[in-house]
Amino acid sequence: MGIPFFITRDLPQALRHRLVILYPSVDSHTFTEPQADLLTTFVRQGGFIFAQNVFWGGLQNLFGFRSFAPSRKRYHLAFSVTKDPVTKYLNRPEERETQLGSDRFPEIIWSNGYVPDPGAEVLAHFDDGSAALLTNSVGKGKVYLLGLSLLDVVLRNQNNRDYDAQRHYVNTFEPGADVWLLVLRAWYEAYSKDWVRLSTIPGGQRSALLLSHDVDWENSFAPGLDFARIEKANQASSTFFIQTKYVDDANSKAFFFAPNLDILRQLKAGGSTVGSHSIIHSRGFNKFELGSGHETYSSYQPRGLGFDTASGATVFGEVRVSKELLDGEIPGQDTIFFRAGHLRVPVSLPEALERSGYQFDSSFTADDVLSNFPFALPRDLGFEEDSEIYEFPVTIEDEESPGFAKRVPQALQVILANAENGAVSVVLIHSNESVLKAAAEQDLLRQLPSDIVKTDMLTFAKFWRARDRLQWSLTATSATTEAALQVKSDESVTGLTFEFQRQISTATGGATVSPDGRHLVLPELARGRSISIHIHYLH
Ligand SMILES: [Zn+2]
Repeated sequence: MGIPFFITRDLPQALRHRLVILYPSVDSHTFTEPQADLLTTFVRQGGFIFAQNVFWGGLQNLFGFRSFAPSRKRYHLAFSVTKDPVTKYLNRPEERETQLGSDRFPEIIWSNGYVPDPGAEVLAHFDDGSAALLTNSVGKGKVYLLGLSLLDVVLRNQNNRDYDAQRHYVNTFEPGADVWLLVLRAWYEAYSKDWVRLSTIPGGQRSALLLSHDVDWENSFAPGLDFARIEKANQASSTFFIQTKYVDDANSKAFFFAPNLDILRQLKAGGSTVGSHSIIHSRGFNKFELGSGHETYSSYQPRGLGFDTASGATVFGEVRVSKELLDGEIPGQDTIFFRAGHLRVPVSLPEALERSGYQFDSSFTADDVLSNFPFALPRDLGFEEDSEIYEFPVTIEDEESPGFAKRVPQALQVILANAENGAVSVVLIHSNESVLKAAAEQDLLRQLPSDIVKTDMLTFAKFWRARDRLQWSLTATSATTEAALQVKSDESVTGLTFEFQRQISTATGGATVSPDGRHLVLPELARGRSISIHIHYLH
């Protein structure tokens, strides 16, 4: 969400700021009585707290609850119709109600249903009627209390350890994890003074459509040229994920050779970008052993044996050797984007990708991970640490019945829903034929609003990585209508955009102010460069 924050265990340091998040929970051991008094005074005097899972009786009055009941049997959550600003971005039915897990499971994630004080307001409730999110005004400040852990409703979805919380697998709008990021965004924007946020989309635009093609059949190469041509004619481009099949096996014959390689070189020379789509494209990839990390083309001999079985295949082999081949065969190619065959993901994939020199992955569907914003893929798909790999899940694909060509209006609706949130949409079209599918893609591109960027996946991914690692700060100056924005990027990046609460009249340093005065687009930043921009507010 591009919200500035820092993490501390020092309560007085935290309370020097107007907005504080208490994480991961508050029980009778978290704070002392004097610290509880500090928190209450902080809110009374105009502080704002967002907390989850507060159990301690010592803070019951501040957070506005009488009691709570833990359970692993609450499957749904619905936001109430209120005027509270934190639900400002939740306008669609898929956002107003979310699913916490499938009722096929007898137990899912832990939730704590609250019984509110009469003075507190319930902003969301669980299916058993207990409060899931409540707010309580105290003095000049306000607290929010969530009866769920963000670890369970965001991270658990993103590492795909959820209890099938998604309502569909692909091709629909599923913001189940995004809603919590949007609630925090709205909370920040409602209560900070003169807030600023690093936008998720470059160039002051509203959203981005990321185009991709999977090339996983011998006859999928030539039609790729038609897609590339149509994209160029519509000011777009795409990333081709290539299966580097050099062995014959039970699933298909080898096809990673001339003239297919000439087509790849043409695509690359024409401005398309290229990623890896593994070697044998096995449905059993998610069960492969990690391998040694020393797999090379000369020694790696994987073979698909049937529907989801293979011999001699490893995760490292599929990832590393496919990169070796693409980098060797295509001039100027450095393969850093991966997509698994059949979108089957082994838990060792982030590690294998990191250690093989990749930066980006697109092996999940957005619906499955309930996320339409890119995110750092957790190492081992666990809960401990992020890998260096960023995930760009697939929003729309072409194979589900009745086929992409007949689903363009539906795809457009999903893209627009994401655009409202500043999220992105990833489109995957197999290049096995270019008559119906390329015409449908052109149809989609032509109907896209002009404030949605149409780009290949690699270009956007590089932007996202630089943005995610950006160091920036906004400093007030002695004049109340001025501020200084300091930005340093370790990677070259174009189109970085900041969104401001206050309207800007002018800015120095080659930055462009949008017509609404609320967006500031930075000039191209060279790798390792710092810039300082002097901002004049309108009022
Ligand atoms: Zn494929």
